Amino acid sequence: MWLFYKGKGWVGWLWKTLWKMDNSRVWEAIVSKVSEKIPEQSFNTWIRPLKLKAFENGELVIATPNNFYIDWIEEHYLSIFKQVLKELALDGVKIRFVSERRRKKLKAVDVQVPTSTSMFQPHYTFENFVVGACNSLAYAGSLAVAQNPGKVYNPLFIYGKVGLGKTHLLHSIGNYVFKHRQGLKVCYVSCEVILNEMIESIKDGTMSQFKQKYRSFDVFLLDDVQFLSQKERLQEEIFHIFNYLYNANKQIVLTSDSLPQEIPYLEERLASRFAWGLIADLKPPDFETRVAILKKKAELYNVVIPEDALLYIAEHIRGNIRDLESAIVRVMAVASLTSARIDLELVKECLSEILKVSKKITLPEIQESVAKAFDIPLSALRSKKRSAHIVLARQVAMYLAREILQLPLKEIGKAFGGKDHTTVMYACQKVEQLMEKDMEFRERVFHIKKLIMEG
Ligand code: ADP
Ligand code: MG
Repeated sequence: MWLFYKGKGWVGWLWKTLWKMDNSRVWEAIVSKVSEKIPEQSFNTWIRPLKLKAFENGELVIATPNNFYIDWIEEHYLSIFKQVLKELALDGVKIRFVSERRRKKLKAVDVQVPTSTSMFQPHYTFENFVVGACNSLAYAGSLAVAQNPGKVYNPLFIYGKVGLGKTHLLHSIGNYVFKHRQGLKVCYVSCEVILNEMIESIKDGTMSQFKQKYRSFDVFLLDDVQFLSQKERLQEEIFHIFNYLYNANKQIVLTSDSLPQEIPYLEERLASRFAWGLIADLKPPDFETRVAILKKKAELYNVVIPEDALLYIAEHIRGNIRDLESAIVRVMAVASLTSARIDLELVKECLSEILKVSKKITLPEIQESVAKAFDIPLSALRSKKRSAHIVLARQVAMYLAREILQLPLKEIGKAFGGKDHTTVMYACQKVEQLMEKDMEFRERVFHIKKLIMEG
């Protein structure tokens, strides 16, 4: 099957010259490059089942097993596909995922999609948020401010580790206000996005519009304020936005992975303002809440999972809710690929890989692997040496310790020669930022992680 693109322009030219080869080989090349960029397990679950359906009119049409895959891949892997296309000098090519199978009929609970002007995730609602002892204060606080914006707790500050529901709660507030208080202007933004917006505004000389925009909201939902760390200019802008909105009795809700005063390099005047209202934490869910969450997710995904299989997942996946969700999604993916019924046996099989790795690995093993990968003595990781190479290796080791073992910052700091928890937090942020900016570095970290996971 040969491909000749009939379109005009440089994409057409590229087609004619570069792609006079078998379509399937093009696809193979793309897949192989993607495989280098993501962990093996994710690759096997999400990328391997994809099939090339067509390659025409400057568009790569990829078949996925079902609609569920499309959502997942677009959210998690689209940027990697785009990066690969760029690396193959195909950045003019569009990519579209289609489903082999139609989505099952949605239930009434699913059909809560707000009007197209809403910026909020339709599924992130209070109704879909399972409440337990671990999150009841954050839930109640969020509901109260959604019902009475600017009147009860201001600001509301929600903190907790990754995957415990901070973003879900912010969107729930957004959805609620959007639906019930149509006169109010509500805005959700993550600190990362607002940073980029600010930089663009500075570049384009449109800072006054930027300032104006963020002073115009009745409800301001700011996600992941730990990201403000060390961003002095952004802190300055947020300080003024905060004061303006607060003085006008507008509702402010903030989330973070730690308490305001524990965010490193955050100005004192901001940290103290963030703590003016109600501070509510999110803790990892207990067993009963994990079961309830799994049931809720199964209902939302419209999939039947027998009770014993659900209990098995809840017993074995304890970290955070995102991991619970990934487990269920993995089970669904495997079941739909192999047309198998979901039962305890299938669940055990699906989770065995995840569980095997999470049980075995220890912090000293992570340190050893990183030291080896960076070609430095193990003792240097635990020392106070400040040469750039050693510092980077130490930061990567701290990041991987957090990522793989989800240990508390303090504990990680202790294992690296008694470093402060803020040093560990900074290290993790630094590595995450580098991974986002630098593809090569990202691959390197993934490679080390893979070596650790495979023992
Ligand atoms: P965070 O922002 O804290 O990292 P998210 O809000 O993104 O976490 O939550 C991760 C996933 O877990 C989301 O898909 C969210 O819907 C789900 N989730 C978190 N908490 C709950 C909960 N209490 N009930 C149901 N789903 C939850
Ligand atoms: Mg979040």
